[in-house]
Amino acid sequence: MTATRHERRESVKQDELAKVMYCGVCGKVVNHDGMPLFYRVRVQRYGLDVNALKRQQGLTMMMSGHHALARIMGPDEDMATRMSDHEVTVCESCSHDTTMMGVLAAAWKDEDENGGEEPIASQD
Ligand SMILES: [Zn+2]
Repeated sequence: MTATRHERRESVKQDELAKVMYCGVCGKVVNHDGMPLFYRVRVQRYGLDVNALKRQQGLTMMMSGHHALARIMGPDEDMATRMSDHEVTVCESCSHDTTMMGVLAAAWKDEDENGGEEPIASQD
């Protein structure tokens, strides 16, 4: 699982803007602070399959710790399942007040520096 780069510019028509123009954090219209910027944040929650992870870890141990060999020899099971998928609007003001938005902004900055081709984080 990696942070992924999306299209940089995607226009929003009036009908779509009406659906996303209120901040999910403060509940105010997105430009209430005079800033004509807002975020749309996609939040996906995953549940790990602990038993599948243990099986793969056991196979890795049987292969003397060789992850790549265990990956090839293993059943390539699903290790995690998406439990929910939501998009939320965050106004510019709340994005400055919310620590998580700062963390996400740093990840996006790293992604930009990597050219969007290298994963920022992975499970390896
Ligand atoms: Zn807000």
